[in-house]
Amino acid sequence: EANKETLGFQTEVKQLLNLMIHSLYSNKEIFLRELISNASDAEDKLRFAALKDDSLFEGDTELHIRLDYDKEAGTVTLTDNGIGMTRDDVIANLGTIAKSGTAEFLKQLSGDEKKDSKLIGQFGVGFYSAFIVADRVEVKTRRAGAPASEGVHWESKGDGEFTIEQTEREQRGTEITLHLKSDAQEFADGWKLRTLVKKYSDHISFPVIMKSESEEEDKKGEDETVNDATALWTLPRTEIKDDEYKEFYKHIAHDFEDPLTWSHNKVEGKLDYTSLLYIPKRAPFDLYNREAPRGLKLYVQRVFIMDDAEQFLPLYLRFTKGVIDSNDLSLNVSREILQNDSTVDSIRTAMTKRVLDTLSKLAKKQPEDYQTFWDEFGTVLKEGPAEDFSNREKIAGLLRFATTHTGESAQNVSLDDYIGRMKDGQNKIYYITGDNFTAAKSSPHLEVFRKKGVEVLILSDRIDEWMMGYLSEYDGKQFQDVARGDLDLGEVETEEDKKHQEEVAEEHKGLVERIQSALEDRVQEVRVTNRLTDSPACLVVGQFDMGAQMKKIMEAAGQ
Ligand code: ADP
Ligand code: MG
Repeated sequence: EANKETLGFQTEVKQLLNLMIHSLYSNKEIFLRELISNASDAEDKLRFAALKDDSLFEGDTELHIRLDYDKEAGTVTLTDNGIGMTRDDVIANLGTIAKSGTAEFLKQLSGDEKKDSKLIGQFGVGFYSAFIVADRVEVKTRRAGAPASEGVHWESKGDGEFTIEQTEREQRGTEITLHLKSDAQEFADGWKLRTLVKKYSDHISFPVIMKSESEEEDKKGEDETVNDATALWTLPRTEIKDDEYKEFYKHIAHDFEDPLTWSHNKVEGKLDYTSLLYIPKRAPFDLYNREAPRGLKLYVQRVFIMDDAEQFLPLYLRFTKGVIDSNDLSLNVSREILQNDSTVDSIRTAMTKRVLDTLSKLAKKQPEDYQTFWDEFGTVLKEGPAEDFSNREKIAGLLRFATTHTGESAQNVSLDDYIGRMKDGQNKIYYITGDNFTAAKSSPHLEVFRKKGVEVLILSDRIDEWMMGYLSEYDGKQFQDVARGDLDLGEVETEEDKKHQEEVAEEHKGLVERIQSALEDRVQEVRVTNRLTDSPACLVVGQFDMGAQMKKIMEAAGQ
């Protein structure tokens, strides 16, 4: 036909397809969840767009997803009457990957199926998962509100290119037909498909409809809804199974691993909203990318409003995924309105507390899972004390450190653990910062602490020194950088120690003066120290001067 064009996939798509087909082979069935998830998103988007312009419904307001199969032909077809796509949408959405950082992400892939399948999970497989089970995929779609003549027919074998042509399409929305591979024919089966819909998509907000296969004559061939079709968060907690929470997480988070934990709450009273928040198990590949999407899915009175509503949580909790459904906000709320809304501020305060409490609970009840969380997201949480001064004590309680107690680089000691091991008379929390763990650990500043058996936190993440600038105390105990100012070991030092110290200082007065004059103004002061037991000398930073790590950051920033 005249308007049929053949186009190539973006290189990244080709790589991703290859990888996915191989590494997800044993997890084939997830394709259905991904496609239903997209269909559900498309229905949500239509309902939202129709708030402003209800002609988009084209007289058909009953939003649903239809699932059909043909055993003989070996096909499965999923149809939605959602927002649909224009030709340009199709080329952008089904021919490229828009996420920035994708190319670098793909470079990390090893060819080891197990490892790669985990990585690809954080990436999100989405539409392309269709090619795990199909060797040919057809998409017919029309954008809601566009004329029937602007239908689009897309087709690909997943081998590097696709064709696209304009067609007539009466029905708005998207129809996806999978021509199943010979080893995936099992999916062209009513029982199998029903089972998968129940398993993965029971609690999306829209009905998934199939033709009845009942033996009863009057039902046979009639439409029947095969999922529960009530949005999960609207159900009472007691009626929701863990597996249902987990599946719903995968639907909204585009993750395919289970979450670590979640918190589901209905708030009534001055504010009226429901939140369902999840803590993921693995950091997304673009966690540190400033433009990466973050935030919650916002619904107002059950109507989807937007993805990535970032106003409901502070930046340092950006790993949190979930849904907020408010009864206070208006249906025509926009991002701009969200930014200056006092209701949003109140919800944000409550949600922040909710996430911090969820983490505290996880740390208490499932310390191993908390450690998993910390290893993935700890450096993000470390942004907390600076960003959220009012919660800094709570955040501090969630921090985990490497310390001289274990002597290992793993960050697994809490401040409460540390305090529990403090020496009699010790009244400060000591820490040392350094470029890397080994350097910090072997610093001469630690000598006296080793001798006295006093534990010191070893901080070697880039962000640590900066973070410590915002933490002055925890549980009433001050933080003290062991490389700064005068070293006060409190009561841990005996009177005898102190007397000895003074004697030594007196004894070496002459030497100190000679060193001072030799170094002249390259140092502020030379003095005899109680810091060292083995090393002859060390450099100390003034109590209020910039630390070495911070200096480097400033220098790198051209300051
Ligand atoms: P994601 O869902 O994470 O955005 P996908 O790969 O699953 O990624 O889908 C890519 C994009 O293709 C979607 O963001 C959406 O814009 C578009 N899309 C996919 N399926 C549909 C559909 N059934 N209706 C409309 N748009 C769709
Ligand atoms: Mg998707």
